[in-house]
Amino acid sequence: MNAIGVATMAENYQKFNPTAYLQNNYMPPRANFTSEEFVVPWKLRCLADAFATGKIRGHTLIDIGTGPTIYQLLSACDYFEEIVATDFLEVNRAVIHNWVHSEEKVGFDWSSYIQHVCKIEGKGEPWKEKEQKLKKKLKKILPIDIHQPNPLGSLLSQPADALVSTFCLEAASPDRPSFDQALQNVTRLLKPGGYFLMIGALEESFYLAGEAKLTVVPLSEADIKESFAKSGYRIHDFRSYDMPPNLKIGVDDVQGIFFIHAQKFA
Ligand code: SAM
Repeated sequence: MNAIGVATMAENYQKFNPTAYLQNNYMPPRANFTSEEFVVPWKLRCLADAFATGKIRGHTLIDIGTGPTIYQLLSACDYFEEIVATDFLEVNRAVIHNWVHSEEKVGFDWSSYIQHVCKIEGKGEPWKEKEQKLKKKLKKILPIDIHQPNPLGSLLSQPADALVSTFCLEAASPDRPSFDQALQNVTRLLKPGGYFLMIGALEESFYLAGEAKLTVVPLSEADIKESFAKSGYRIHDFRSYDMPPNLKIGVDDVQGIFFIHAQKFA
């Protein structure tokens, strides 16, 4: 068992600085769109490929632990009527709210991300159209705690058709049992037969976000596959990415990234 518990992690998150986090992970060198050898375009490719199957669709998609980022929703927005963003921290929910509701360029500039996703999807969609579409579909931004048996409380009455989650469960769980429990908790938000797309860190023990140093539960590929199988999922696709030395920039000790495309048993 890790010495630090869920309550200490929640306390540490109070110092999470969205601007510093975005700078560390979503600017060059990690956000380099010239090749999928860089981590950001690798992540965008995983999501674009999964949604391009056309099977992950429905009324509602919930993003678990959205944080201050929207890249994880860009390929999803053609396939759902409504996208629900969620986060534990008010400061992150405010970043998303400001992005949805501001016409002008305020906050982080996602334009290169949106342009890249339009390019790899190959549908000739103008990037401004995709931006507007996602803003329209992001109808709710809700507080969440993945460590609660019902992570959204009574805020959503119906289970979602699909879930997305990027770098949340392992970054909010101090150890393997709490990661597994969190996975079971969020699985209650998904209807039977629904899909869950998750991207996360492999073998990471910490990351920085300004003054905050956040503990992460180190996970192997085998751990993730086992946790999903135990929580009642069939795995359709699993991909992994080795973090190259030039992207190990001192803001975390991540060794790689995983992508899992899983389906809850009906
Ligand atoms: N999804 C974003 C991304 O892809 O970069 C943000 C990931 S960030 C590493 C982890 C996120 O988990 C933060 O936004 C944080 O506020 C959120 N978080 C921390 N504790 C949580 C909890 N108990 N329940 C849900 N989310 C939590």
